[in-house]
Amino acid sequence: MSLIVQKYGGTSVGTVERIQAVADKVIGFRKAGHDVVVVVSAMSGETNRLIGLAGQMQEKPDAREMDVLVSTGEQVTISLLCMALKARGQDARSYTGGQVRILTDDSHTKARIQEIDDAKMRTDLEAGRVVVVAGFQGVDHQGNITTLGRGGSDTTGVALAAALKADECQIYTDVDGVYTTDPRVVEKAKRLEKITFEEMLEMASLGSKVLQIRAVEFAGKYQVPLRVLHSFKDGPGTLITIDEDQSDMEQPVVSGIAFNRDEAKLSIRGVPDSPGVASKVLAPIGEANIEVDVIVQNMAADNTNDITFTVHRNELDKAKAVLEKVASDLSAREVVGDASVVKVSVVGVGMRSHAGVASTMFNALAAENINIQLITTSEIKISVVIEEKYLELAVRSLHTAFGLDAEPVVE
Ligand code: ADP
Ligand code: ASP
Ligand code: MG
Repeated sequence: MSLIVQKYGGTSVGTVERIQAVADKVIGFRKAGHDVVVVVSAMSGETNRLIGLAGQMQEKPDAREMDVLVSTGEQVTISLLCMALKARGQDARSYTGGQVRILTDDSHTKARIQEIDDAKMRTDLEAGRVVVVAGFQGVDHQGNITTLGRGGSDTTGVALAAALKADECQIYTDVDGVYTTDPRVVEKAKRLEKITFEEMLEMASLGSKVLQIRAVEFAGKYQVPLRVLHSFKDGPGTLITIDEDQSDMEQPVVSGIAFNRDEAKLSIRGVPDSPGVASKVLAPIGEANIEVDVIVQNMAADNTNDITFTVHRNELDKAKAVLEKVASDLSAREVVGDASVVKVSVVGVGMRSHAGVASTMFNALAAENINIQLITTSEIKISVVIEEKYLELAVRSLHTAFGLDAEPVVE
């Protein structure tokens, strides 16, 4: 008998019928002899609806109250799923994050899990019950409700699996695994049998929302066997693995393509070319709690520098205001903001041992006449910032250029 933690996402519990189908599925696992802990998200669209309500009350809603509000979405689905299970003769018990005691820090709306008390869950499992836990939420040391950031139910699932030393954590969603890129953007995307934690971490941090980045971090840190599967279609899904399979000669150089639409670009032009200037430009941005991503500096003909960097699109106005202040202190020529950029990245552990990935990438983009505005690389990824309107074209052409397209199905 094994212990499985299953997480069902918003679309998988989006209607009464789907919640009932999840109950049937869970009972199937019980009948096969497994202990099951289920984590559920709010019904699809509910978290966005609640955030919308908050926006009508306060321009920048209070973070503590926001957590009290958005955590209610998951409280609805845990109770409904338990009712569906009980209606089918399966004893079950629901818990909010605070009731389990998923202890987090106090950073409202982006809290981190610190500790999980597994006592109640263990007692229930021993009594033959299915345990159903609300995803996305916890409680801080003062008893305040906290939430874990968008997509945070994935992290709840993995963290519970780690705390309970589960045999597997299964993330059930509306696609049948992790694909070479978002299958909703590229029709020819292929499901991966497996992907390494390292690659999945890059994909998640570069914009692939199939798994929340913290869930992948947790799974890697605590070595939780993690699988992404379709909620209602049978199949092996995708296993997130620890080891790179060195013996696999077929291992592609690029495993996947990620993209992020939430980017914005800022430039400060005509700053002096002298030591300490980059710090004078970027330190105030950091002090304003704005995260900076890609940074590029280039020299203009008059020996001054232009510094360009990207920030989250929601923070463009705030960052621009900070930069305008810096610009007047440094007598810079101008500050320019652009919210119509995106970042496209190719990811693969195979890049470590292969040259030429960058040139393949740049050639493919050049062939489509797509201008590259910024470039950044690390050991297993290359990212470019391009104009937003070229996003789909860029992702599709890179998918083909790196040989990732699925074979056409022969009827
Ligand atoms: P859930 O509500 O179940 O948590 P999400 O919407 O958060 O589901 O994540 C699943 C979605 O992630 C898919 O519908 C798909 O559009 C998107 N996605 C982005 N990149 C990928 C990828 N590489 N592989 C699979 N799905 C991806
Ligand atoms: N309901 C939350 C969200 O929409 C958490 C989750 O679904 O993972 O972000
Ligand atoms: Mg999700």
